[in-house]
Amino acid sequence: MLSGEIDIEINDHFKNFGKDINDVDYNGNGLCPFCNSRIDEFNFCACGGNLGVD
Ligand SMILES: [Zn+2]
Repeated sequence: MLSGEIDIEINDHFKNFGKDINDVDYNGNGLCPFCNSRIDEFNFCACGGNLGVD
């Protein structure tokens, strides 16, 4: 597999968000308080945390 490319069949991020993880806009949303990963423009994190609620 080439670096940065994920097979669509196993790309859960694409299935969930409709775009590849490399295309997600993480601009200025900070880090997830649960797993310390970047948060996308919908306030969702890869760990399942939704920072947009509560
Ligand atoms: Zn997280």
